[in-house]
Amino acid sequence: MVEAIVNISTFRGSCVEATHYYGSLHVISSEFIELKRPITQEEIDKNPDRWYNYDEGDLTNCFKSWRDVIIAAGKKAKEIGLDLDTIAVVGIPNTERLSYRDSLKPLDTRPKCKRCGKVFKPGEPCYNTPSGLFCVTCYETRNDTHNRKTGICHRS
Ligand SMILES: [Zn+2]
Repeated sequence: MVEAIVNISTFRGSCVEATHYYGSLHVISSEFIELKRPITQEEIDKNPDRWYNYDEGDLTNCFKSWRDVIIAAGKKAKEIGLDLDTIAVVGIPNTERLSYRDSLKPLDTRPKCKRCGKVFKPGEPCYNTPSGLFCVTCYETRNDTHNRKTGICHRS
């Protein structure tokens, strides 16, 4: 049974790879915990403008990768006594909900068309809809009977 969900969120433009990730650990019976991590001196030195007000070890909610979010969530979950096998992870780019353990295995997170599975090349146009990413061909034939049922947002 799932007892907690790691929610990963990110800035997401149309088919643009995200640069920062945020996360929370939502314990279903109770809390909603925003995940944080300590900043390193190396990061501050590399990007002094961005970390202007920070000292090494200060906490930020901004992670460099979604994997870092999951690892932070796992640590937090242990701290509060949750079994890692009861945690699900949502929000890994281009990936459906996974168990905590599966989320740490190597994953293919390349953006792909949800309907035909075609992997997008960098910069290739695609449609980013509330129900997922679609290639131009699939999106433009979305009124086919197959797709009518999937509830793709029909904005024009
Ligand atoms: Zn497609």
